[in-house]
Amino acid sequence: MTGLPTAGSIPLELEKTDISAYLTGNTGIRGVTTFDSGKPGPHVAITAVVHGNELCGPIALDWLFRQQVRPVAGRLSLAFVNLDAYELYDPADPFASRWADEDMNRLWQAETLDDDSTRERRRARELRPFVDTVDLLLDLHSMQNATDPLTLSGPLEKGRELARAVGYPALVVTDKGHAAGKRMRDYAGFSDPQSPKNALLVECGQHWEKSSADVALATSIRFLRATGVVDAAFGAAELARIGAPAPQSFIEIVEPVTIMTDDFRFEGDFLGQEVIEKAGTVIARDGDRPIVAPHDRTVLIMPSKRLTKGMTAVRLGRFVE
Ligand SMILES: [Zn+2]
Repeated sequence: MTGLPTAGSIPLELEKTDISAYLTGNTGIRGVTTFDSGKPGPHVAITAVVHGNELCGPIALDWLFRQQVRPVAGRLSLAFVNLDAYELYDPADPFASRWADEDMNRLWQAETLDDDSTRERRRARELRPFVDTVDLLLDLHSMQNATDPLTLSGPLEKGRELARAVGYPALVVTDKGHAAGKRMRDYAGFSDPQSPKNALLVECGQHWEKSSADVALATSIRFLRATGVVDAAFGAAELARIGAPAPQSFIEIVEPVTIMTDDFRFEGDFLGQEVIEKAGTVIARDGDRPIVAPHDRTVLIMPSKRLTKGMTAVRLGRFVE
């Protein structure tokens, strides 16, 4: 690892992909490119950089563009989301460019989409007519800690079904999102059980670890195959190189822990995916309030280092199926 720049103790194994060739796009919305097969079928989309310091998504989209991927049915869009934050990415301070003004993945409800007081709100407004037409979405993300990649399938059975059809990565987490606001994957029809629209968010690994780029690529290829927008042989060589997926396991989030005070601290140095064997074990303290494991074999999902009031500190889950 010597020679690589680092963020504290974390080596920056990935470099920022130059996306300048894709900014004009062909839809009138910056960073959004749509290919139309001219045949019936769903509008399938893969999105990257909702968070500006997550480098695996642009690597996967760049690969798809270079392969000249085209839909065999329906439409296929490839979109770069938070262009301001991605532009701000600086390897000297890689945590700083998660967003420009605020978290773009909490804005997907009318109150914030109808507002233009931040760069992210203006961008979300710009993207909304595009997102409104997407039937099947894969949103590529990465995580603060180097834990196993996971899919966030949302709270509905249809999300789990799509995750099963994609079959990768191995861990699927069912959750309702955050108190602070809706994610793009929860927007409108994506979280309506009556709607055929569906969305997955995949956390491909630690933001700057090399393997996260392969996870983004393998998930993207498998997602495109599962939706039928490409043929079943698409990306075969890449999938063979990356390797077969492990069997999937499913975790249901019982509760997100929302930070209520300015004094939140974890009881251990949790990285995520730790299993707390006994119900009642204290996991953290929020002011005077102990946060305890709600049941035996509680799984900690994505404990945060940003322990700010109103934000999600960690999600508590249990294995299902
Ligand atoms: Zn993210």
